[in-house]
Amino acid sequence: MIEKLSPTPHITIRDGIRLPTVGFGTYLISDEEAAQAVTAAIDAGYRHVDTAEVYQNEAGVGRAVNAALNAGLGRDDLFVTTKLFPGNPDWGVPAKTYETTIASLESSLERLGLDYVDLYLIHAPLTPAERVNQWRALVDLRETGKTRAIGVSNFSQAHIQELLAAGLPRPDADQIELHPWSQKLELVDYLRTTGIAPIAYSSLVPLSTWRAEEGQDSAKTAEMQAASEAADSPFAVMARKYGVSEAQVLLRWAVQKGYAVLPKSTSPERIRENADLFSFALDDEDMAAIAAMDRGTGVAWPTGDPMTGA
Ligand code: NDP
Repeated sequence: MIEKLSPTPHITIRDGIRLPTVGFGTYLISDEEAAQAVTAAIDAGYRHVDTAEVYQNEAGVGRAVNAALNAGLGRDDLFVTTKLFPGNPDWGVPAKTYETTIASLESSLERLGLDYVDLYLIHAPLTPAERVNQWRALVDLRETGKTRAIGVSNFSQAHIQELLAAGLPRPDADQIELHPWSQKLELVDYLRTTGIAPIAYSSLVPLSTWRAEEGQDSAKTAEMQAASEAADSPFAVMARKYGVSEAQVLLRWAVQKGYAVLPKSTSPERIRENADLFSFALDDEDMAAIAAMDRGTGVAWPTGDPMTGA
């Protein structure tokens, strides 16, 4: 029997729809590994799981979610996000249309083994000719109840304004790369004033300990290599001060800024550690020091920042 936690910290993204502040990221977790990793996350208290059509692990994620439901959690105890792969003309993958967007969520639900998801996002603004039609499809999918909330990911202010200019409702959330090296202050300010929840991904990019390791190619740059070789990263110094890990410092920064986070790990110990963010707080001095670390655009997309695309 899985324990129903008292309300986990959350952010309200739409009339009573509560997004748990700490979610479990599943990018680069294979379908085979996904069930075990997501089960470890649910056991550690995570109540939000983030997947995507393009991660090719929705079936594994769904197995873990359904196992948790069979073990006593209610469907409304869990929050599941998946994302539409919108197509990418640059990779020779045709843009999804209104109809194929509707069909994509149906396929995701089938793989997940669920009747609905809690949040459905357009993964990136890669398809200028079809973006508005894809958004119209998401609006209609929300009406049918196949998703409770809808949003975008990697969308800039201009991309969002394009949807609003078409007379369509605003997204409930924008999932973006957000961490001390990519703070996107103007975009976050716009999201806040427009009533769109920012969700932070790749929070651990500035971590000095892992990006240089073999096989950890996600978001790896020469800059990170240099940081990992530096004698003492400022995050390591803060970690010692609070008696936590560097990862917890980075995740706590985001939570203190009011962002939901999505740490990914396949290690049960790190999975537990990454959710332990509410027993300490960064002081004003450290928040100010981190505010001065912004280096501009993100690094997660190997082909460059999708947000700068037309
Ligand atoms: P994260 O910032 O979550 O970092 C994950 C990496 O950090 C893994 O290599 C992991 O290794 C390592 N790690 C995790 N915890 C710790 C720890 N406590 N100490 C040291 N190392 C640790 O990266 P992601 O890029 O995966 O982003 C998180 C999630 O956000 C994704 O999984 C996905 O769900 C979402 N995302 C969305 C994108 C979008 O375009 N919408 C793009 C990128 C991510 P290990 O597994 O070995 O612990």
